[in-house]
Amino acid sequence: MNRRYDMHTHSLCSDGTLSPTELIIRARASGVDVLALTDHDVTDGIAEAQAAADKVGLAVIAGVEISVTWEGQTLHIVGLNMDVSNTSLQQGLSGLREFRQWRAQEIGRRLQKKRIEGAFEGAMRYVHGSIVSRTHFARFLFEQGFVHSPQQAFKQFLARGKPAYVPGKWAALDQAVGWIRAAGGVAVVAHPARYKLSAGKLRRMLGEFRECGGTAIEVISGSHQPEMNRHFAGICLEHGFHASAGSDYHGPENPWVDLGRLPSIPESCIPVWHAWEEKPIAAPLSNLG
Ligand code: AMP
Ligand code: MN
Ligand code: MN
Ligand code: MN
Repeated sequence: MNRRYDMHTHSLCSDGTLSPTELIIRARASGVDVLALTDHDVTDGIAEAQAAADKVGLAVIAGVEISVTWEGQTLHIVGLNMDVSNTSLQQGLSGLREFRQWRAQEIGRRLQKKRIEGAFEGAMRYVHGSIVSRTHFARFLFEQGFVHSPQQAFKQFLARGKPAYVPGKWAALDQAVGWIRAAGGVAVVAHPARYKLSAGKLRRMLGEFRECGGTAIEVISGSHQPEMNRHFAGICLEHGFHASAGSDYHGPENPWVDLGRLPSIPESCIPVWHAWEEKPIAAPLSNLG
């Protein structure tokens, strides 16, 4: 059976625009069979997603997308198939959410210096869960007419080097991977093409990631161009990683990313879900040397 997997999605619990239930219904209607909910630094939506999935015949993988600071750069590490009741995971994530709250106030102060009043409160009106994201500020800036699109808000105010950018103090790479593994999950480097790292630095990062227990990278991402998928399939083989595929869906407002449209993982790669599928489709890992 050829099941459709999407191992990277967001809901209202972080910076997506659909509730976990709405996301599941839409994913099922788009032909997705197995979906990981991977909200930023929070797992609060998993229970609702699982309840909704039971009703529509879709399988939910408990996931998260953890914010990491590595050599001054922000990286995103996705955790898949975790026990979300794990204390070390939840304590780690709660620290990141506290930093988000402080950072949001600081973003508000920096926008105020640019004569934009009430940005913190305005962004918080878009928050429906327990994390506040730059995306919520982007929606406020768009709503107030300071920019002509939420993307423009990043370009003008929120992206690295712009006036309201506050450098992240996120988890260390080994911490994030450690929390995911403590919860019995698999750690995956999210959207590897998005980082502004030289080839050498990317290689070093992947080496460290593997040393601290990371085992997979997103070969297929909704934010990758097709040639990037091929490139990372090669890197996957070279480093012995398993391959993940995720749309990074945030909601219907971003029509350039949709559910159920991901290309399949190249046959040369071992999909990350083979580790937890009952009946592996390819040869068992132990046969591959
Ligand atoms: P944060 O984790 O709060 O720093 O926000 C990061 C989120 O902002 C990402 O997960 C994306 O959803 C969104 N984002 C980052 N850069 C951009 C951009 N240039 N345009 C639109 N959204 C972006
Ligand atoms: Mn996001
Ligand atoms: Mn991300
Ligand atoms: Mn994401």
